[in-house]
Parts: sequence; C-alpha cells; structure tokens
Amino acid sequence: MSKIKYISKLLKTKQITCTELTQKYLDSIAENKGLNAYVKITADEALKTAGAVDVKIERNEELMPLEGIPMSLKDNMSTKGIETTCCSKMLRGYIPIYDATVWEILKNQNAILLGKTNMDEFAMGSSCETSCFGGALNPHNKNHVAGGSSGGAAASVAANLAVYGLGSDTGGSVRQPASFCGLVGMKPTYGTVSRYGLIAYASSLDQIGPVASSVEDAAMVYDSISMYDSKDSTSRGRRELISDKLDASIKGMKIGIAEEYFEGINEEVRKSIDEALKVYEYLGAEIVQIELPQVKHALPAYYIIACAEASSNLGRYDGIRYGHKTGSYKDINDMICRTRSEGFGKEVQRRILLGTYVLSAGYYDAYYKKAQKLRGAIAGGFKKAFEECNVIIAPTVPTTAFELNFTSSDPVVAYMTDICTVPVNIAGLPAVSVPCGFDGKGLPIGMQLIGNAFDDAVIMNAAYQYEQQVKEKIYRQTGIGVIL
Ligand code: GLN
Repeated sequence: MSKIKYISKLLKTKQITCTELTQKYLDSIAENKGLNAYVKITADEALKTAGAVDVKIERNEELMPLEGIPMSLKDNMSTKGIETTCCSKMLRGYIPIYDATVWEILKNQNAILLGKTNMDEFAMGSSCETSCFGGALNPHNKNHVAGGSSGGAAASVAANLAVYGLGSDTGGSVRQPASFCGLVGMKPTYGTVSRYGLIAYASSLDQIGPVASSVEDAAMVYDSISMYDSKDSTSRGRRELISDKLDASIKGMKIGIAEEYFEGINEEVRKSIDEALKVYEYLGAEIVQIELPQVKHALPAYYIIACAEASSNLGRYDGIRYGHKTGSYKDINDMICRTRSEGFGKEVQRRILLGTYVLSAGYYDAYYKKAQKLRGAIAGGFKKAFEECNVIIAPTVPTTAFELNFTSSDPVVAYMTDICTVPVNIAGLPAVSVPCGFDGKGLPIGMQLIGNAFDDAVIMNAAYQYEQQVKEKIYRQTGIGVIL
C-alpha cells in the first residue's frame, strides 16, 4: 500500500488523529531544520485544517483521497496570505492575495500544508544553491545537494518531512531532485496541470508536478491536480486519470532506447539502467533501439528559450508594484536599476542579461529564432520516435547528487547537467523519474521514462510495473518505507 493510502487508512480507522499526525510532522521538521528543506513553516494553518479533518472523522464522514495528508509546496506557488518568495531577496515579504490553482484544489481537499519548500532562486539552477536562504541538503548524505531547483520539495519528502510535495519543472526541476533523493518525480504533459499562480520562469516550459515516495502516490496527486483551468491560457486538461491504469500489464509494450541519451553518462548510472531494462524484458516489454539525433541540440535551445522568456517574465520586478524596492535613488531609472541589482542574485541576473541579448535586434535571428526552429525539430524527432515505441527510457541525470558547491564556480558545468531532462520540456512531453539503484557511495540513481504528449498514464503504468518488481530491493534502502 502506498504511503498516502496507508496514512489515509490510519486516519479513517482512527489509529491516529490528523492533529497528532500533523504535529508529528511539524516536530520532525523542527528536528531536521539543518536540511534546509523548508523556508517557511505553516504550523497554524496546518493544525487548523487538521482539526477540521478530525471533526469529519469523528462524524464518520467520507474523506477525499488527499484529505488530511501532510504535504509541502515549492515556494514559487502562490499561497493566499502566506509569504511566497521564490527564494529571492526580490520577493521576501511578498504575500499573495490569491491561491495558485493547484493549491486551491488541494486546499479544497483539506490537504495539510506544512510549509513552503526551498528552491533555486526563481527556479533557476540545478542544486538549490542559488536560493537566498542557502541550499537544501540531501537527506541521503548531507555533503551532497538535494538537487534543483525543487531541492526543498525532494528533501522534505525523502526525509519524511512531508508525505508528498509539489515542485515545478521547467528543464528538470522535479525529476532531477527526485532522482538525487531516491524519489518519484513526475513532469506532466505541458498544459495538463494549471500554471495559474505559479510564479513564472519560462512560461512555455514551466509545469507543476508531484514529488512522492512511490509511483502510486505521484499518480494520486497528479489525478487530483490535473484539470482544465480557464485561468491558464495554455491549459489543455488531462486526457485520462492515471491511478486506475497502473495495474495494466505492459506485455508487448515497446521501450525505446536512444544512444544519444547515454553519451557521457556515468558508468554506474548506465549499469543501473541496463539492469532496469532486464526487468522490463522480464515483464514482457520489448526493447527497441531508436534514434533521436535532435536531442543533442536541446541544451543550447533550452538555455536560449528559457533565458529569453525569463528576461521578459522577470521584467515585472521593478520596485513599483511589489517586491523589493531600493532605499535611496536619484530618479526612476536609478531606482529600477538599484532595485533589480539588489533584489536578484547573480544567476538570475546572468539569465536576464543572456535573455535580453538573444532577443535584441540584430541577435534575435541568430539565437532566439534558431532556438525556436530547433524546438520544432526536437518535437518532430520525438514524434517520429514514438511511431516506433510507447515509452523512451533514459537517464534522468548523467550523475548522482553533486557534492556541495560543485556547480557554483562555473555556470556552464551546472547547465550541462540538465542535458537529459530539458528535451521533454522543449517538446512539452510527460516524463517521470523513478529510483533504479544506488552508486558506490550509496547515493540514489534515477531513470527517466518519457512518453508521447498526453500519455501520462502510459509512462506511469510502465513506471509502476517496474517499481513493483524492485521496490523491496530499492525502496527499503531509501528509508521511504518509514511511515511516521
Ligand atoms: N536546471 C534548469 C535551469 O536551471 C531547470 C530548472 C527548472 O526546471 N526550473 O534552468
């Protein structure tokens, strides 16, 4: 039984009250402050909702699937009345006056929000270390990062400081930290989960997704949060629910392997994936070799498109409407310049500069337009590949979790590590990272299952079938079998 289902059962059978459960989680968060998973604890709200859930249980009322389950939200999702900072000095003290759609949905289900989780500033990074609060540590080994940008979300779930968390994935930010922390991280098809209230980084790539201890839990969360939302102009809604498709046999399923994804991959990662493929063969799937030559262009295309969109999206932080405003200035230009220099960290400033450059007259055609053309070619490459297979398996990250400060000296080193995650964002496809082993240091390894657009249920079905075969071997070691 998955963790969410198990805890829900404990609540329904009155083995623990929701208030006791919530208090246990709040106590563990306090004891594990050093992990830096949370940047804000919402104890009052959590206990208030827990009390309301307890009243329902007392009255023997039916509970909704995620009702009473303690969870976390990445700090770039707007929460009415609760500070939302994007882990940037620019937004410290900012209190949204509305809820992100995902949070509105979960709030209506009486989800217990324990707090807001740490992240790279404005979700720009791969280690969580660009956060103005300092990075989140990896619960498996505190000398390593939890990953980024949703590092706090992953650390909160891996250390059992939340049952599940919501992160956002623009170029890998849900899947990469999930991979580093031995968790399941799902990046849904673009448009299936509302972006309304998610503070924008690169709008054509951003997508919210769950970080959880198992495929089943991630599927339950996806089923709850995915729906059409008229407040998000790119919302499409989901094609189907996932949870009831997990059990289906994958006999005859075609799993594509593209060598392009394995160039320069760490040996231990490669070996774990080879082992996983054997499990798939045992389950009756057919492994087929496919070609995806376009993916090698994904990284440069991503960093041009993401920076271009970021430079435009972050234009709103001008010291006038909300957020940080400089103390003293000569005139309006000076005010905006000082505000932005003080409020944004180095990495965010770098990306705004890069984005402004690639969009400027004279360079637009050479960079932005070219990147958009590549985007079309990458999407076309995947489309063709999915004529030959149902799911593509690839590494999530070329390595396991980086040591602290590994990416801080050279931004390009950090960008390169996104090589396996960015292609699906560019093409708007669904992908899920599942744990598939450990390296020699005991750090988790993740494997990525990629699907055709709106085939979210297909990848989760394939992920679940694999998980059932290996969960004893892999999950026990991660400690995520621990319930309370
Ligand atoms: N690491 C990537 C970046 O820095 C992805 C971040 C994300 O998905 N938010 O842009």
